[in-house]
Amino acid sequence: MVKVYHDGDADLSVLNGETIAVIGYGNQGRAQALNMRESGLEVIVGNIRDRSFARAQEDGFPAYPIAEAAERGTILFILLPDEVQPKVFESEIRPGLRPGKALVFAHGYNIHYGFLEPPEDVDVLLLAPRMVGRFVRELYERGTGAPVFMYAHQDASGRARERVLALARAIGASRVGAMEITFAEETELDHFTEHFVAPVISRAFILSFEVLTEMGYTPEAVVLELYASGELSEVAKAMAIDGLVKQLPLHSRTSQYGQLTYAERVMPDGEKELIRRIVREIKNGTFAREWQMEQQMGYPVFRRLLKRAMEHPINEAERRLKEQVSIKLS
Ligand code: NDP
Repeated sequence: MVKVYHDGDADLSVLNGETIAVIGYGNQGRAQALNMRESGLEVIVGNIRDRSFARAQEDGFPAYPIAEAAERGTILFILLPDEVQPKVFESEIRPGLRPGKALVFAHGYNIHYGFLEPPEDVDVLLLAPRMVGRFVRELYERGTGAPVFMYAHQDASGRARERVLALARAIGASRVGAMEITFAEETELDHFTEHFVAPVISRAFILSFEVLTEMGYTPEAVVLELYASGELSEVAKAMAIDGLVKQLPLHSRTSQYGQLTYAERVMPDGEKELIRRIVREIKNGTFAREWQMEQQMGYPVFRRLLKRAMEHPINEAERRLKEQVSIKLS
């Protein structure tokens, strides 16, 4: 049975005397820094001197260049984009490490695939919110929180687990639940949703748009029907709160019958073989190597695919729809 921890399992006082250095004041960095400060921790920020640096100062944080923050902090949150972490770690963070300090990652990628190898005398912790940064903050402000995957991967201080539990509490995660899984499992599950679930949804929209408009349906109406009304995001919320199946009564009986009867026709059990292949490519490092090479070559495939996606007629239909229908979602 998986272990899930709540506020009662975490003792914030284990962080007394610690200086939390949030390295990277972006999506996750800003949200987690604000939450931790409100939970009573001493938080500083390390960032390159840019708009994010200025924003940290405007938010009232002592802000330093990354190397200085890494020197000053005892617990370092590595909240830089994953692809820049290894380089910045070697040049600016590693020199500031001392025995007993801790490194905290919001995604297991670099540790799991060995792109970043911390020294043995620091704690290596995982605190990976299952939520985009903005909502990590908004949920905390509403008195709740975003769930996290957490793990004490390397315990040099002898206090690694207590520390990560206390940090989960400080960002608001253990208000709802901090689930203990390894760096490997967090990374692989995260990539799985990115490689299968998200593309299945977006590809379904693109192919549907192409076919429906070919068949004479109004492009703006297709976009509104498929996703732009926001109905889908409300259904997704109901799935999270009530359950994947238990939310069905929110839909008409005709809708429920249609969904149930077409589910296996559009995605038969045979698709499990594709799912297995995708998982194998994640597990054996095929994707990580491909992404590493793509970065080294200056993102040629990424740029080409993004350009093609941006030029797809669905973008123009969205633009025209937005001129006429203004959708505001909470
Ligand atoms: P961001 O893209 O928001 O960037 C974080 C910060 O890094 C920004 O302040 C950015 O500065 C700075 N930065 C960018 N490039 C460099 C560079 N070359 N050198 C130094 N600093 C740089 O990151 P995220 O918050 O999205 O991701 C941080 C971590 O959190 C990652 O490990 C990610 O996987 C994980 N994560 C992210 C989630 C999300 O909601 N996005 C969800 C869960 C986990 P500037 O703003 O000026 O570009």
